[in-house]
Amino acid sequence: MPSPDPGPASRPHPEPDPHRLPRTAEPTVYRITLAPDLGTATFTGSVEVELTLHDRTDRLVANAAELAIEGATVETLSGTHDAQVELDEAAERVTFTLDAPVGPGPALLRCHFTGVLNDKLRGFYRSSFVDQEGQTRTLATTQMESTDARRAFPCWDEPDRKAEFEVTLVVDAELAAFSNSPVIEERPTDDGRRMVRFAPTMKMSTYLVAFIVGPLEVTDPVDVDGVPVRVIHAPGKAHLTGFALEVAAHALRFFAEYFDIGYPAQKLDLAAIPDFAFGAMENLGCVTFRETALLVDPATAARTELERVADVISHEIAHMWFGDLVTMGWWEGIWLNEAFATFMEVLCVDAFQPAWERWVSFGLEREAALAVDGLHATRPIEYPVASPEEANGMFDVLTYQKGGSVLRMLERYLGAEVFRDGVRDYLASHAYANTVTSDLWDALEAASGQPVRSLMDSWILQGGHPLVSLADGRLSQTPFAYRPADPGATSAIGGPWQVPLLLRTLTPADGPAEGGPPERLLLGPDPIPVALDPDRPLVVNAGGWGVYRTSYPPDHLARLARRLAELAPLERAGLLTDGWALLLAGHQSPDDFVDLAAHLGDEDEPSTYGVVAGALGLFDRLIDDGQRPVLEAATRALLGPRAGQLGWDKQAGEKERVPTLRALLLRALGTLGADPEVRAEAARRFDASPVGGGSAAIDPDVEDAVLAVVAAEGRPGDYEAILERYRHPTTPQDEIRHLYALAGFNDAELARRTFQLATTEVRTQNAPYLVSILLTNRVGGPAVWELVKAHWDDLLARFPVNSHPRMLDGARTLCGSPELARDVTRFLAEHPLASGQRTVTQNLERLAVNVDLGRREHDRIVAALSRVAGGAGA
Ligand SMILES: [Zn+2]
Repeated sequence: MPSPDPGPASRPHPEPDPHRLPRTAEPTVYRITLAPDLGTATFTGSVEVELTLHDRTDRLVANAAELAIEGATVETLSGTHDAQVELDEAAERVTFTLDAPVGPGPALLRCHFTGVLNDKLRGFYRSSFVDQEGQTRTLATTQMESTDARRAFPCWDEPDRKAEFEVTLVVDAELAAFSNSPVIEERPTDDGRRMVRFAPTMKMSTYLVAFIVGPLEVTDPVDVDGVPVRVIHAPGKAHLTGFALEVAAHALRFFAEYFDIGYPAQKLDLAAIPDFAFGAMENLGCVTFRETALLVDPATAARTELERVADVISHEIAHMWFGDLVTMGWWEGIWLNEAFATFMEVLCVDAFQPAWERWVSFGLEREAALAVDGLHATRPIEYPVASPEEANGMFDVLTYQKGGSVLRMLERYLGAEVFRDGVRDYLASHAYANTVTSDLWDALEAASGQPVRSLMDSWILQGGHPLVSLADGRLSQTPFAYRPADPGATSAIGGPWQVPLLLRTLTPADGPAEGGPPERLLLGPDPIPVALDPDRPLVVNAGGWGVYRTSYPPDHLARLARRLAELAPLERAGLLTDGWALLLAGHQSPDDFVDLAAHLGDEDEPSTYGVVAGALGLFDRLIDDGQRPVLEAATRALLGPRAGQLGWDKQAGEKERVPTLRALLLRALGTLGADPEVRAEAARRFDASPVGGGSAAIDPDVEDAVLAVVAAEGRPGDYEAILERYRHPTTPQDEIRHLYALAGFNDAELARRTFQLATTEVRTQNAPYLVSILLTNRVGGPAVWELVKAHWDDLLARFPVNSHPRMLDGARTLCGSPELARDVTRFLAEHPLASGQRTVTQNLERLAVNVDLGRREHDRIVAALSRVAGGAGA
């Protein structure tokens, strides 16, 4: 919590912290006026900051970057003083020096400034779109988190310097203007522009301030228990807003009830921004999104695309309470902000559409996090952060997906209501203020009577996760790692953990149905004996929510494999994901994994079959071309029977997640399996669908798969056809589907052409992801890698900084030859990124794990695939 300045004698850090502003002055109110000129990409502005001075001083230090500041004065009870302005661009600071000392007491800082509307998707920046008449239109919008508010106005740009904001925008008469609060005054200016004044905000952090100015439209407000909710969008897209409004209404009511606190802002606008570096941003009352995360047509969208929109909206609305109302004191707390919003997003979407089984699909997201967390280059979820830049490395799967999974594990362990009660207490106690992570643990500890703080410290403050092994009638834990640490190298994998276990036994195969609630245990460093009965196999991670791997003895695993149908979906998925991880780590054989895969049968859940498809995709990289027919036959043998049952079209009464499974199977069969029938049917459906006519001829749930299969086959003219559809999309989702499909052609020349598109016409918000997908192309990836090296500096200059590591995600699949992998490793080690290099290092370690797998298991993989391929006809 921010507290009154305790005075120099009792300050905890007597040395000035170079990353924190002096606390001599505390801002309480900002009155900001900004006049953006979209034509010249500049803005003029002025700000009045009401301050409380705690000491007598002649210097005020605030943040500013890329601003020209002039005409500064400081007014106090004793009079008005001119201030000299000194900018330190390297430190992103401005110092106002007065002609005489002032304070302590109230003061008013006034200054004027000019700035640039940049094209880097940060601070106050420009975005553009082509309107229905074919004209390019420009807008100005903001992305302040983490520390770019200082590019829009001078400010105390730290999360615990909360203040109220009174914003006025002066805009061209025909442009719309939005900010965090409702408009309270609007009038023409003398020079023919329009002045728009917004109501004061609640007390909040600078990183949550938002301004949007442009030729945009807005829907009529929907009243949600007194909160007006609207969607802001480019003209002509109003028909894509209905689903977002429905999701937002649900989320507002869900969270107000769950948190037991009313929505903290006065209105809620959800704005679709054509160029946006992130998925969305939780600006209080004025949330910004990339278009694919907000605008959608339910009639032509895949369920997974709808789910993404529902996820992102629910996540951002959860932040209005957790993040905006109660905020981290410093940037190391960003993990809790994001992990909690991720947890709440899934809880909320699960309530919105229970049939989507969102907690089951979240298991796959946890898997993506554990795939990183089993590396020596992982990190603790929370670590000390001195500079804000250090916290930029926290916006990754370990924060969102591992952090969210650990919170889910805690919630299941404490019980849903106890957990919710603790969260309610935490929010009520710290509203409008700032916290550290342990404040939440203390609230949960008080609500539950459990040792939450020590339990969570073992998960949050050290990297990695345990492998829980069942052996010799005992359960024990060891740290899980995909490979031994290199000699002399450090590892971020810690241990031991306090592991909350849920255990259950399957009932005897032919006996009466029974089985009480799962047994609950806390596994520490010492092994725990368990009673085993061959007729009642033990399931260690009952329910499947635990953040750990499980290893069973082979005979126990075989018994579970025969009774897969009796397991919950997440338990089944866990057997597959853990089996795959144990194979990568050298603890299980390819035979064990392929046998488990062969038992899936009429499984409905995409996450289990998804593990199998992912494994086959990696095997595809590790085998020689001459063995590809074996892989193709094995793919058809493992996935073909289930795909045959499901067919191409939706069947009456099938579960909500089945279309996703259908698409996954068809895609793998048509690409990895080179299945002639699947390829022929995909081509037929593609040819029958009109350009620009939406997805009438292709079921939206399988369109991605159809495009991937068409690209894999690569008929003459299909590249141009998909490119044409990308250039004339019907929805944001339609645009992205066709864009990414361009990376699926197994042709080095087409891969180079797509790379060329990525560095020219493709929006910089999407291009880095396209490059990453190109790198995963088995045929084109090596050619694109050469282009990435050749254009390295251009790529870094062109793409938003936060996306640099994302662009390189695909490099971990460049394991086709040891020479290529060595080249990738050498180049990326010699060209470290300024921000996000840890993610690059993690991908290089994953590349090494993949290369190790090929070197160690190549012959056994081929043998296992041959066996299952041969068995198909038997
Ligand atoms: Zn978030």
